[in-house]
Amino acid sequence: MGLLDRVRNILPGKSGPVANDELGKDGPLTGMVIVAHPDDAEFMFGGTVAKWCAEGWTVYYVLATSGDKGTHDGELSHQELAAIREQEQRDACDVLGVKEVIFLAHPDGFLKPDAELRGEIVHLLRKYRPDVVLTWDGFRQGFNHSDHRAVGIAVRDAIYPAVRDHLYYPDDKQDGLEAHQVNEMLMGGSDDPDYRVDISAHLETKLQAIICHKSQIGGTPEEVRKRWTDRMQAAGRGTAMESFKRVSIRRSARQQEAEKQKEEEKKAEESQAQAATPATR
Ligand SMILES: [Zn+2]
Repeated sequence: MGLLDRVRNILPGKSGPVANDELGKDGPLTGMVIVAHPDDAEFMFGGTVAKWCAEGWTVYYVLATSGDKGTHDGELSHQELAAIREQEQRDACDVLGVKEVIFLAHPDGFLKPDAELRGEIVHLLRKYRPDVVLTWDGFRQGFNHSDHRAVGIAVRDAIYPAVRDHLYYPDDKQDGLEAHQVNEMLMGGSDDPDYRVDISAHLETKLQAIICHKSQIGGTPEEVRKRWTDRMQAAGRGTAMESFKRVSIRRSARQQEAEKQKEEEKKAEESQAQAATPATR
């Protein structure tokens, strides 16, 4: 898919579907983007990441590969290309306001949704404890890069049930990592999206982040900008949106009860500690 086609995906007509994003309405959350290659996230949902960061969210990026096959330049080695693309990804993340970028450095093109990849993702979810995860829809029909499919499936399997149950990947405990529950997953590139984020106010940031991927975009940044602007004008005044398939995991009654109890114990401990502190006046 060319750049313009990918951009076009986020530009519905004037009478397109309406935004229904509600995550974060009660305050900033923690998000984690987990994708296959540098640039996947910017094209698919860079506007959403920009919006979240502007609203005060903490966002982490995980790249399963460093995109070390994405070139037609016969002179470049895997290592050289990986280094270039990692830097482009870091630059894009700086533009968006992402807090940290993690590269798993698997070989581009050969990702498998196996126990190893799932375990790496579980480890990072337990470490960074996101509320919301953004990833590829691993089950979409039609052609899709096998790495996109693999990472989407691995993330889904990591979120349910592995990350939640401490007996999966028990070595994490030795690293001081507790089990964690991710309650929301938003999948990009989906056939039947049902969650839409209005990114109209963040298009410029998204464009700047896309332009950071110099080795991938074809043309100078000025040309890319011109194509983008022309396209925006042609689209008229329609709202720009990014679309996802949302999967929410409901917490069980038992779990909610346990959390409530924990909260109450914490409160009781705090008030005890306060009572034990001698008055200063
Ligand atoms: Zn990709």
